[in-house]
Amino acid sequence: MQQPTLIGEDASALAALAQVKVVYTDLDGTLLAKGGCVLADSGGVPSATVAQAIVALNTAGLSVVPISGRGRLQLIELTRLLGWKDFIAEAGAIIVSGVGGPAGATVTYNNGHWPADLLAPGETPYGVIERSGAYELLREAFPDLIEYHTPWHENREATHLLRGCLDVREAQALLNQLTPAIGILDNGVVRNPGDLKCNGELPHAYHLVPCGVSKAQAIELDLAARGLTRAEAAAIGDSATDIEMADAVAVMALVDNAFESTGVRSELERVVRPNVYRTCCQRGDGWAEFAAAWLAATGANV
Ligand SMILES: [Mg+2]
Repeated sequence: MQQPTLIGEDASALAALAQVKVVYTDLDGTLLAKGGCVLADSGGVPSATVAQAIVALNTAGLSVVPISGRGRLQLIELTRLLGWKDFIAEAGAIIVSGVGGPAGATVTYNNGHWPADLLAPGETPYGVIERSGAYELLREAFPDLIEYHTPWHENREATHLLRGCLDVREAQALLNQLTPAIGILDNGVVRNPGDLKCNGELPHAYHLVPCGVSKAQAIELDLAARGLTRAEAAAIGDSATDIEMADAVAVMALVDNAFESTGVRSELERVVRPNVYRTCCQRGDGWAEFAAAWLAATGANV
């Protein structure tokens, strides 16, 4: 596999970044150090590098939107702490804007291809997926290979968070038979094997989502709501599913640790996306490198 070029050294990437007004950022493995810390370098040593990069972007008035598998309650505090206004939770299924504003945040469920009138009054997308029997269907088809990703599966409103080691294409074919159809997204490797019998394979986190929901599709909706075009957006991440964000933005950056993932390498081989670039540093250090390239490209003086 040919590695993508370094974002800070590619003239076409920098030209595209000059037009970018909003960046969608993954959190775990991208912005954050291991353990979810923002005040540490990629090796876990205390560091203000990422915080300084965030302050520089905020000072320049450039918008950053966290986009993550995490739930709304987890993301709202993080977004406020970092001085941002908007975020996309549960792998694209919840779009939130106006955090910290006088009118309070606006929360929108992104239900993908589901009919607009599907939810009963007071019902959440989580409730619809629960009553669809999707989880029980997967448990029956893949015994000992799928379970809830405890304790992170709690307090969800839209998606069911699972861990397991199953064939995602086979699982999706099963879920397509349900009414309404449910999607399954692979969110990369997790370290907790729980009670699974994965035969030495590392389990992955999976989201059961309303059919059609993805990070890229959520970005398209969010850009339309902002009145921005694809040319005015960038994204940064570290997983195979993050790469799909490239289809919704002008510039996609992968932090260097992304290339440790076989899923990332095979996705880069499966689909050639010329707008995917890399950073030379890992995790938050790579994120700060991306922020510096963006600031330089826009000519911001901070
Ligand atoms: Mg990640």
